[in-house]
Amino acid sequence: MPPQRGKTPRKNKNGTGSQTEPVEVYCRIRPLDNPDDPVCLKAINTNTCILTPQENAIARNGQVKELQYQFQYVFDEYTSQKAVYDYVAMPLMEDLIKGKNGLLFTYGITSSGKTYTMTGTPDDQGLMPRCLDVLFNSISGLQAKKYVFKPDRMNGFEIQTDADAMMERQRREILPGLTTPKTPGRGRNHGEFGEHGRMSDPTRVEDIDEGNIYAVFVSYIEIYNNYVYDLLEELPHDPITGYKPPQSKILRTDSNDNMYVMNCVEVEIKSPQEAFEVLYKGQKRRKVAHTALNAESSRSHSIFNIRLVQAPLDANTDMIAQVQDQEKNICISQLSLVDLAGSERSHRTKNTGDRIKEAGNINQSLMVLRNCIELLRENQKTGLGKLVPYRDSKLTHLFKNYFDGDGKVRMVVCVNPKAIEYDETIHVMKFAEMTQEVLVTKSQQVKFDILETPVKRAPPVIEDYIPMMTYSLGPSFPSLEVLHCRDEYTLDQLSDYLDERNRLKENLMIDFSRKQDQFRAQLVKIEKEYNEMKAKSHDSQSVLEKRESYIQKLESRLRSLEKRQDETNRQYKECERERRELESKLQDKNMKIRQEKSEKDRLRSDFRNRLEHNNQQWEKNLQKERNKIENELEGQINEKQHKLNMLKHIVNTETDSDTPTARFRTPAPKTRTYTTPGKIMSARSETDMTSVGKNPVPTPRSRTQTATVSSARSMHGLNKVGTPKNTPQYNPRHRRSRSSNAEIWLDHRPPGSVELGTVLQPRLKKKKSVSKLEVKDTKEATKYILTHQDIDSAGELETKLIKGNMLPTAGGGTAVVFNDVETLKQISPGSRKRRSSCPQPTDYDGDWTDVEDRCGIAIEGHSRKRSRGTEKVSRV
Ligand code: ADP
Ligand code: MG
Repeated sequence: MPPQRGKTPRKNKNGTGSQTEPVEVYCRIRPLDNPDDPVCLKAINTNTCILTPQENAIARNGQVKELQYQFQYVFDEYTSQKAVYDYVAMPLMEDLIKGKNGLLFTYGITSSGKTYTMTGTPDDQGLMPRCLDVLFNSISGLQAKKYVFKPDRMNGFEIQTDADAMMERQRREILPGLTTPKTPGRGRNHGEFGEHGRMSDPTRVEDIDEGNIYAVFVSYIEIYNNYVYDLLEELPHDPITGYKPPQSKILRTDSNDNMYVMNCVEVEIKSPQEAFEVLYKGQKRRKVAHTALNAESSRSHSIFNIRLVQAPLDANTDMIAQVQDQEKNICISQLSLVDLAGSERSHRTKNTGDRIKEAGNINQSLMVLRNCIELLRENQKTGLGKLVPYRDSKLTHLFKNYFDGDGKVRMVVCVNPKAIEYDETIHVMKFAEMTQEVLVTKSQQVKFDILETPVKRAPPVIEDYIPMMTYSLGPSFPSLEVLHCRDEYTLDQLSDYLDERNRLKENLMIDFSRKQDQFRAQLVKIEKEYNEMKAKSHDSQSVLEKRESYIQKLESRLRSLEKRQDETNRQYKECERERRELESKLQDKNMKIRQEKSEKDRLRSDFRNRLEHNNQQWEKNLQKERNKIENELEGQINEKQHKLNMLKHIVNTETDSDTPTARFRTPAPKTRTYTTPGKIMSARSETDMTSVGKNPVPTPRSRTQTATVSSARSMHGLNKVGTPKNTPQYNPRHRRSRSSNAEIWLDHRPPGSVELGTVLQPRLKKKKSVSKLEVKDTKEATKYILTHQDIDSAGELETKLIKGNMLPTAGGGTAVVFNDVETLKQISPGSRKRRSSCPQPTDYDGDWTDVEDRCGIAIEGHSRKRSRGTEKVSRV
């Protein structure tokens, strides 16, 4: 195992061979505010809790069964803070001191007890103050002097000499602006964790390595709206509005691939009190920043980092062991305590404007956390290396190494068991259940392999140095004994010895003064060098300062660029989303168009088929109709032929027996009127019948026609029909005087005639209308017109105007020679013709009438004009 620098957890690059352990999830149920409130969550044993759906939830979701959830431990509402600490955080503290990393976070909806669990109250402290107490209890007497370990601004630490550390201490004391929290004095405000009334935790971690020295650093950050803020940084002061909104920080990767917040203030603390002062300062700043940002604390994630730096002591010098690469001699471990934002969904917050955005972002970062955990679990189950989207939020990005690398991860799920929170609680429980299936790499025991962990050495005793301090003063004093006052010999010897000593002393003095001069000269030289170096260092200091300010400028630019990048990313995502939406819309439309086209093709071919079918049908019908009409006509022609033959026969017979010209005669003086010859008259004939005799030659265009007596019947109340034998004599070539233009019509309309109201009416200049013929009426009239109405074979009213000339007879009466028949036919639109089976224009809502109508419609292009009937006049 290579030496560990600790820091934030190192990424486990190979991923194999290392042991894993699951994320440990604990559940803590808080007590109800009102004990009478109904609950939805209960702990049934130390590992299991049961979630009961509420009536309204049953109605909404149809969820009826109770759900059980198992956790590492379930703390019920009566569990003390101390018990929670012992179960959850104490092992993490032990790991921290052993150089292992840990992450502990509280998760749950707002007011579920996250902050209570993490921070607690002064008289019932939460996990964080207890951690600090236990840490300082454990390393007491083993702490390094302040500033011996110095943050290198790149997530690492440097070791300073004692002298440098002392200098730094003085510098920081001289320049209070740079001073981070001082040792609290009396009467200082420590916030709610002030020393008065605070119950510190006396627990300590046993089995601590006394061969190391330790230093504790804390930092306090907040993630709000996906921006990272340093809560220990001095807020920029605005002279007008007070504090300016804080500057957000950026995340960086250090040389060991660990994530850290760049330029984040890290404060070295020497006691829990100092830590609380820092915590209090951070919380105060958080409030100010929230006011400046118009934010709400429950919407932000707060992260309190404790970093423990340790280094082994040299067994001989009782100082930090000196090695070439000092960095390798330091072990850094970290415990991150995270109080997450409320996990409730944004609509619950009933926020508007900025708050909505903020709530959305919070939920988004929690959602990213959920996604990451889900993907991690999936990757671990399936072995697929899907990319975990840590970078989608600052929260997951900062802690990605905990999940990817090594470091213990623990989560306390805080639950408010109130029944009305059921809907949110079920989400929290699902997430918690999923989280504990994720495996993280087990932390390894840290070893210093540069030096064997040194045994703490007792300090050297001062007596050991005394022999080094003795000086040689020449030969030892001779052992002479003066026997009496005139013992010259002895005195001389003594005098010689003393002289010698004097000489030696003088020599020594000369040597001393020489050495003194040398030393002084050396000192002067050193001082000179020192001054030179000082000047140089001053220069380099200014260069450094310049560089520093340049770096700061670059950093601020980087920050703004990062912001822009974030914004661009957001816009890109938005555009991407819109593009996808548009694409899917386009696909839908294309599909619709294709469907419509195929439908049209289908309809067209259907229509074509139907049209063909109808055409065939029509043709068939027309053929049938034609055949029928032809047959009818043939029958009629035959009948007419037959009748004509009969007529011929009669005429021939009469010609044989009577005068050739006489046809009908009214016996004088009685005027006799002859009826029209029914069907014979209606037969279309333009044959001149006057020449019917022995040699009847049909004369086309001649409109003279005679009626046969044989077929004459009594009609419309006319007088008795005469027989050929009784026919009166008249002159068919009789011509009346036309001088007076006196063509007088006798318009005979038998009673019961139906009024036609047609456009085409016979034009009779002078006429006398009668309904019953009287003899006197026949006197002046020269022309006779009889209106005869009947129903034809198709059931239609057929009106015939039978016209004739009135000729005086030999007996003084009047004979009528019929010479013209006009047939008036009115055809009603619906009855006469069958409805067409031909497809009709859809916008035509009326009935089809007849061929003319249809043609009219066809020509005028769906004109709505329709004639309701037609009149026909056929002249026979
Ligand atoms: P959160 O941080 O989840 O929004 P808090 O920690 O602020 O919720 O808790 C809301 C309230 O509930 C606080 O007044 C807190 O004192 C109280 N509370 C939460 N958990 C407990 C508990 N286990 N015991 C006693 N009081 C609690
Ligand atoms: Mg809270």
